[in-house]
Amino acid sequence: MSGNYKIAVFDGDGIGPEITEPTVKILKSMSEAAQSYDLRFTYAPAGASHYAATNESLPERSLEIARRADAILLSAMGLPDVRYEDGTEISPQIDLRKALKLFAGVRPVTVRTGQAGPLTLPEGREIDFVLIRESTEGLFHSQGCGQVTETEARETLLITRDVSEKLFRFAFDLAAARKSSGRGPGRVTCVDKANVFRAFAFFRGLFDAEAMRRPSIVADHAYVDAAALWMVQKPWDFDVLVTENMFGDILSDLGAGLMGGLGLAPSADIGLDHAVFQPCHGSAPDIAGQGIANPFAMMLSAAMMLDWLGLKHGNTEMQYDGTRLRQAVEAVVAEGRVLTRDLGGNASTLAAADAVTQMMRAS
Ligand code: ATP
Repeated sequence: MSGNYKIAVFDGDGIGPEITEPTVKILKSMSEAAQSYDLRFTYAPAGASHYAATNESLPERSLEIARRADAILLSAMGLPDVRYEDGTEISPQIDLRKALKLFAGVRPVTVRTGQAGPLTLPEGREIDFVLIRESTEGLFHSQGCGQVTETEARETLLITRDVSEKLFRFAFDLAAARKSSGRGPGRVTCVDKANVFRAFAFFRGLFDAEAMRRPSIVADHAYVDAAALWMVQKPWDFDVLVTENMFGDILSDLGAGLMGGLGLAPSADIGLDHAVFQPCHGSAPDIAGQGIANPFAMMLSAAMMLDWLGLKHGNTEMQYDGTRLRQAVEAVVAEGRVLTRDLGGNASTLAAADAVTQMMRAS
């Protein structure tokens, strides 16, 4: 099966353009060499700098480019000194999540043998699990609309059957895809607080209903507090974790911590029709313009994009290229010779990107 795929690129603010450029360069060279797919890139202006210049943070034309794209690659948006008149931050990535109904926030956590990090892994153990954070409701549902009086404050958590069913279907599909590619045992863990809140008992009930339909995948549960403990004590035991928005927000930073920092943490926000791939970190204005930003999380996000597009369109070459790119970044990190400052090295963005290109050639 072959095809042309349109990629919308939001290169964003701060270090955004610096990490986007080498990533798109690698994607272009893979696409040029590919027999069965061709990637076409369209840049979409948006973000805080764009807002400062035009008074628009996410122009309709850019949203349209995103809507028409087969996948969206986004770096980071927002700058501390550029805000809307009401003082809130400019975050078109959240607007995109809502506009395109991207309910599944996918956060892979991977630590390979040799990779430096806060945990000393037992001999022969690696960490390779995926946290799925529901991204459109949960405790973020009332974001910006909470009620505050002199004496009390209230926020409302929303769990809907519709979104939860889609979320759990997605989680089981992902576990099945990982199992068939040899990356996981085929297990999904529902992370909740069903012992205290009725909303989470409802969430768990919907999870169990999906689990009944998926006998080839093991399903289990963990309370969120225990899940946090186990992510530190025995993270190699997890395969796919699925949870509510706020719990996922917190646990995904714990996952980034396990990997040694935000500079290695990729992510995807996926819906039924669209998907955005972006690093977990922000625009890092403190180091912007110096050529020292770590491009690895952006490259790992691009690898996830190839994998998702390949799976969606039945294109194994694209999936293979996604795996190649991911493994090259992982190998450079594990080798530890060419690392940017945030990872304890002194390589520039371009030197780190070059190391990945060399590693891909060598593999
Ligand atoms: P946001 O709220 O937009 O997610 P943030 O305020 O949490 O952003 P980041 O922009 O992610 O913060 O930056 C946090 C710290 O991590 C900063 O010191 C920044 O320089 C560093 N950092 C973030 N991303 C990278 C990167 N890719 N390479 C090197 N350092 C980074």
